[in-house]
Amino acid sequence: MKKRAPTKQANKEAIAARFEQAGEASDVTLQDLRQLASHIVALQKQIRSLGGFAGDRELLECPQCGLLEDVTFTGQLITWRPSAEGQDTGLRFEELPQGCFRCPACGSMVQED
Ligand SMILES: [Zn+2]
Repeated sequence: MKKRAPTKQANKEAIAARFEQAGEASDVTLQDLRQLASHIVALQKQIRSLGGFAGDRELLECPQCGLLEDVTFTGQLITWRPSAEGQDTGLRFEELPQGCFRCPACGSMVQED
């Protein structure tokens, strides 16, 4: 399946812009990078709280029932079934410790790729 994570590219652009602001890459200090990293983490948290996809993991697909995660052009995280492509089921995978997720449709455990 196709995996799309447009926000990863946006993150890379944000990092590139930050480096440009700082001038030469050698002017960027560890402190700058730490600040940037914590800023990105805060943004990802905010995106998730708004129902968006933060691009910090792969999109999921349930091997049992075929439920798929996808990201809309507005950045919202949705799930859909192969029989109704692009139609949000309203279900969301439940995040468990250690990169595991539970399928909300059939209860199967799903691992990130
Ligand atoms: Zn499932």
